[in-house]
Amino acid sequence: MEHKRKCVGCGELKDRKELIKITFDKQKNEVIINPDTKIFGRSVYLCYNKMCKLNAIKKNKLQKCLKTPISEDLKGTLIEYE
Ligand SMILES: [Zn+2]
Repeated sequence: MEHKRKCVGCGELKDRKELIKITFDKQKNEVIINPDTKIFGRSVYLCYNKMCKLNAIKKNKLQKCLKTPISEDLKGTLIEYE
């Protein structure tokens, strides 16, 4: 059974493939959306739907969970990310 992850936008538990993974790469000091290589760092998960993204951004969830500032650029990229 696959381990479920929690969306920080709506709080629902979903399969990994249904969620966007956002990882803070501490070594590079960079936040990466859906990293394809194994990157160590804090991660949060978000549904692909815009409501969850906007909700998480509005409540500064990413910033709080990843413990790093989220740039406006990254927020824009994330909202458009599909
Ligand atoms: Zn969600």
